[in-house]
Amino acid sequence: MTEMKVKSIEVKGIDVDQQTRCVHYHTERDIIAIKFKCCGTYYPCYKCHDALSDHPTERWRRDEFNQKAILCGSCGSELTIEEYLSCRSTCPKCGASFNPGCALHYSLYFDTE
Ligand SMILES: [Zn+2]
Ligand SMILES: [Zn+2]
Ligand SMILES: [Zn+2]
Repeated sequence: MTEMKVKSIEVKGIDVDQQTRCVHYHTERDIIAIKFKCCGTYYPCYKCHDALSDHPTERWRRDEFNQKAILCGSCGSELTIEEYLSCRSTCPKCGASFNPGCALHYSLYFDTE
């Protein structure tokens, strides 16, 4: 297990790098970490959470989308879920590109129905 700090924010995961890539997702654009509602901890992906935590993942509810729960590994800014879902794969703070493939996994983290 590895812990990495991005601007003093702790990110837990397996082989996490400075920009929050992990052993599972490590392309140039895999640079966000997600704070999990169940434990309030940032992980690069749900697989890291599954591997390192001892409890099931809890998803953010719709009325909690104003919480800061996304960390841009490029500039270290925390985004609200709302900001992240509406940013079209570009960090609103630094302009870095996020992996658009993450959208496939939204339902694992957020209650988007
Ligand atoms: Zn958790
Ligand atoms: Zn991972
Ligand atoms: Zn950024």
